[in-house]
Amino acid sequence: MTKPRGAICNLDCAYCYFLAKERLYPDSAFRMSDAMLEAYTRQYIEAQQVPEATFAWQGGEPTLMGLDFFKRAVELQKQYAKPGMKIYNALQTNATTLDEAWCEFFHANDFLLGVSLDGPREWHDAYRVDKGGAPTFDRVMRGIELLKQQRVEFNILATVHAANAPHPLDVYRFFRDEIKTQFVQFIPIVERANETGYQEGNQVTARSVTGKQYGEFLVAIFDEWVHRDVGRVFVQMFDVALGVWLGQPASLCIFAETCGTALALEHNGDLFSCDHFVEPRYQLGNIEQDKLIALVDSEPQHKFGLDKRNTLPRHCRACSVRFICNGGCPKDRIITTPNGEPGLNYLCAGFKKFFTHIDQPMKMMAELIQRQRPPADIMFMLAREHADLDKKFAQAGRNDPCPCGSGKKFKQCHGATVQTEQRPPSRDREKTLRRQNKNPKDF
Ligand code: SF4
Ligand code: SF4
Repeated sequence: MTKPRGAICNLDCAYCYFLAKERLYPDSAFRMSDAMLEAYTRQYIEAQQVPEATFAWQGGEPTLMGLDFFKRAVELQKQYAKPGMKIYNALQTNATTLDEAWCEFFHANDFLLGVSLDGPREWHDAYRVDKGGAPTFDRVMRGIELLKQQRVEFNILATVHAANAPHPLDVYRFFRDEIKTQFVQFIPIVERANETGYQEGNQVTARSVTGKQYGEFLVAIFDEWVHRDVGRVFVQMFDVALGVWLGQPASLCIFAETCGTALALEHNGDLFSCDHFVEPRYQLGNIEQDKLIALVDSEPQHKFGLDKRNTLPRHCRACSVRFICNGGCPKDRIITTPNGEPGLNYLCAGFKKFFTHIDQPMKMMAELIQRQRPPADIMFMLAREHADLDKKFAQAGRNDPCPCGSGKKFKQCHGATVQTEQRPPSRDREKTLRRQNKNPKDF
């Protein structure tokens, strides 16, 4: 992840973890030089052991480098590309600086953009403001409109925080129905409350999402998605989870057993272990003095990656969803386990709730894929299950066993609470289907 303009940004989002990094370079102009861009491009391409390379531009706001910088970047990529090599570019932006020229360039050069947007206006503007404290929603929407007009590929990166966390479906439906994006990521805000801007202390700000809120947020969106949007909308976390349920390693570092391959390069060539650990003690070196590949392959970086697994508390090692959670990102491991062991993830309650909740549908989708069927078939299967269950509730007699599988009589279970219409509320129906442990082979 490369930060050609360092931490410099035209916005001043209240929860941003990176703006404080400006203090690391008090006398810097925060502009990657042409010589550094060339050295980086050459070394990065040289280091690839596969016939492709992806350049990931981030910030701060990388477009503040100006369009000519990225034209030059593409020129250098072509110059140093190995024969037959495919080069990709991904760029994370707040989209407020975009105009026709930017969008034409992105389209012509096949850039994939990540646009930061936190949902409808009121929740986006809660924290995403400019340097004067003014809201930015309209400017982001204008940028998105331009991207659409020029057919630039983009996805949405939404943070989940205290303001939007209580409104999962409003946020999700806004992205699906109004932005009409197919790809969305939900990143939890766990913001440390300290003066340094480093990963220190165990207090978080009031803007942070709680573990419980994050779990409930993901569960609500998953339930909507699995019933109507599979194969149509791609939510990064759901895709990553499906991969793991298929037996593949997690494709997202936070859920992988070890990490250490998501390094951050500052504007002056300083290389850090991770974008979330741009701090002096995690600096591996500078690519002007040391070879990039040697720093990536260095002992401190290996240790950084292995520590993710080696410092996992016993509580996590014995956890039923460890295979997908792996204790989450080390930056968020700031609470203690019920036994008082340090190093538990602040979001643990949410991870546990979410991963337990999706177990059954994930197994169904994984089995569909293994049987060469599209995972989207799960939507028909669930619809049929709901219809069958509704029929059973409608036909159940007062003294019959309750169709939900509780073992109670209908009149003492769902029949007791649902008198005018003999069917359980939808949330109960979900539980019932899970209890019945439905399997794709039944269909
Ligand atoms: S510290 Fe967290 S964000 Fe950084 S590479 Fe490891 S898991 Fe990923
Ligand atoms: S859900 Fe909680 S206990 Fe389980 S692995 Fe994740 S962080 Fe650890």
